[in-house]
This record gives sequence, structure tokens and C-alpha cells, in this order.
Amino acid sequence: MKWKAVLGCMLLWGISLGHADRAVTDAPNGQNVFVITLDGYRWQELFGGADSSLINDPHFTADTSYTKAMYWAGTPEERRERLMPFIWNVLAKKGQLMGNRELGSKVNTKNLYFLSYPGYNEIFTGEADPMIASNDKIKNKNQNLLEYINKLPGYRDRVAAIASWDAFPYIFNKERSGFFINSGNDPVHGHELSRTQVALNQIQADPAYAEDHTRNDMITFLSAKEYIRKNKPKVMFVGLSGTDDAGHAKKYDQYLKNANDADRIIAGLWNMVQSMPEYKNHTTFIITTDHGRGAHPETWYNHGFFVKGSSQTWIAMIGNKIRPLGEVSQDGQAYQRNIAGTIGYLLGVRTYSRHMLPLTLFEPEPGTMLARQ
Ligand SMILES: [Zn+2]
Repeated sequence: MKWKAVLGCMLLWGISLGHADRAVTDAPNGQNVFVITLDGYRWQELFGGADSSLINDPHFTADTSYTKAMYWAGTPEERRERLMPFIWNVLAKKGQLMGNRELGSKVNTKNLYFLSYPGYNEIFTGEADPMIASNDKIKNKNQNLLEYINKLPGYRDRVAAIASWDAFPYIFNKERSGFFINSGNDPVHGHELSRTQVALNQIQADPAYAEDHTRNDMITFLSAKEYIRKNKPKVMFVGLSGTDDAGHAKKYDQYLKNANDADRIIAGLWNMVQSMPEYKNHTTFIITTDHGRGAHPETWYNHGFFVKGSSQTWIAMIGNKIRPLGEVSQDGQAYQRNIAGTIGYLLGVRTYSRHMLPLTLFEPEPGTMLARQ
């Protein structure tokens, strides 16, 4: 990748924005953006499929023969396709993936803590905050992009977050930010709940399904689908937690299953929006993770400042404006903090685009020669 050219583009672009009329550039441009996160999902499995040392270790994989029957194959390419068939059969052909370090493509957290709250703060504010160093449930002082967009004309009540982890009301500062947030085992509130929403509230309340800090990703998925059907948000966050939960539990078989479920969820959301006129052909998905995990077979289940490999993440994109580059194989370095600015760029909300991914990854704007270098 020609970084100097990209830098040149961004400088030019930044200067031209300085003179742009904010009211015009920030009005909805017809584009929708979905952000989907797989908490603590390693690039090693995304790009290489199941790890031989972990899938064969009965300490981490209770039933090695069954799990291998599900997810093992001779080559990394076959293994990753078995684990995440939508990502590798659809997204990799129509979109792009960054973060395969074997090919020189690197994505990292800019924050130094490699924990969830600092990671999601960085994704949604576009900056790493050195003062956010733990997952403590403290109301975030930082304004996030979703909150910012929800206040713009044309976006009010068209921004939503539905997530498995119950810390998001703090990360997004629900009291202050004012957009729809539903997470953990919180029921969906409202006067006009659909039958599906009432049923999901009942399932969540059942002690058989209730977990400590996260709800099952499949309930989050069904809840997100119902919200999309009813409310048609322009900007939507779906936060999945199963991969991190299984990692901490040291259950590699469950970690693989939850990754496979996440692939099915992404496919389900993609197919849903492609069948709706409000979304078809003008919606982009950005899929990423909040942090990596240990790179070693003895540390894979953990993450944090002292666990080597935890800063290593990945970003996948598909949809409108995304060039079909597939697996990015040039040397390059992206950061988690580039995502907020990229969402702003896609929506035309340029007042929020401090850091973004290189413009060469996107289809050129009509009438510009700059984007293709
Ligand atoms: Zn974790």
C-alpha cells in the first residue's frame, strides 16, 4: 500500500472538509452502517481456523473427536471456511479483511490495556483513553460516535445498540447519550412491544437462560433482528460476547462453536438487510473485535497488558462503498481507533472523522480522482 499517497489523500481531504458546510455534510446521505463485534475473538482463528494444539488438547477441548469432526481440516484455508463459512464464502469475496499478520496486514488496539471497556471506548470514540484501564462499570465521560450521530438532524432515534454484555450502558453512558441501548439481561421496554419482543423478554427472565454478565448471543441476535424490523435504524451496533466468555472459561470447543454461531448471526443480519428496501445496497457492515488474546497455547484463554498477543485485532467490512479487496495482503498497520472515523466517513458525518482507515479501501466518491491511488 502506498502510504505516502494515502497520507496525501487524507491531508487533502481533511483540508477540504475544513471549509465544508457542517449542516450539509452531516445530513443523512442514505447510507446505513452496522457495527458487529465478536468479543475477544483472535485473528488466529479468523484467518487460520481451529488451532491444532488447542483442538487436540483435552484440557481445553472436552470432546476432541466431535470438535474435530466439526471444525478440523487439512489446511488453514479449509479450516477457517469450516469455522466461518459466511466470512470466507461471501464477505471475503465481496468485501475485505484486515489483520492477517502472516501476510503483513496488522490491526492493533491503540490503548495499552487490551481489555473490553478500553477497546469498545476506542472503537466508538475514535481515541484510546489512557484513563480507562479496566472493565469497571463507570459511566464513560467520553462522548461516543453513536451518541453524537443520534443528536444530528435526521438521525434522532435511528441509532441503536443491542449487545450481550451488560457493561454497554456504562461504556455508552446510557443516561447521557439518549440512543436505544439494550444489553445483558435487561428486557426491552416500551408501550408497543411486538410479540417477539415480549417472548424474548420472557426467555431472558427464565433463570435457565440468565447468566451473570452476558446473555446468550442468539437472544441478542433475535432481539436485534426484531428491533431492525420494527425501527429500521440507520446506525446499529450488535455486540456479541460468546467468544470471550468461552475463552475465559478455557473451553476451546465452545469458543469455536460461539465463533461459528457469530458467523451465522452475521450472515443472518446481512441476508435480512439485503432483503429490505431500506437497507439493500446502501448498507455497510464493519465487523471487528475489542481485543485479541494470548498468542501461545498456554495463554490463549486470557488477555490484557501482560498477555502477549492481546493487542492484535482485525477488521472485516462488506457492503456499499467497500472495495472487494478480499484478504488484505500488503504490509500495513491499522488501529482500532480508525473505526469511528470510518463510520463517520461512510455516513458523511465528517465532523467526527479524526482517524480513519485508508481511503484506498473504499470505492471512490463520484467525481473524485483521489481515492484510487
Ligand atoms: Zn475478556
